[in-house]
Amino acid sequence: MHYVACWTEDDGIYSCGHSHLVVRDAMNCLVPDGGGFIRAYDAGEFRSLTNREFIDFLEALPEMPWSWRNRTQGGEVTLPLTVNAE
Ligand SMILES: [Zn+2]
Repeated sequence: MHYVACWTEDDGIYSCGHSHLVVRDAMNCLVPDGGGFIRAYDAGEFRSLTNREFIDFLEALPEMPWSWRNRTQGGEVTLPLTVNAE
């Protein structure tokens, strides 16, 4: 059994084609904002994640470099509100 990262395009569903042994490994192949998701390849066919696997997914989410949590870090720029005041 292994995991793959999947995403949808106009003409269907694509997978990364790897054989990731754990959920968080497959998450590295997800495309940020690409509508990606993880599926398990189990007993010869793809299936959705179980609740336990989905918990792994959620736990690994903050560690992803593309995570929305990481993306907000250091991204706060204080704009000078008075720049056009004169
Ligand atoms: Zn992959």
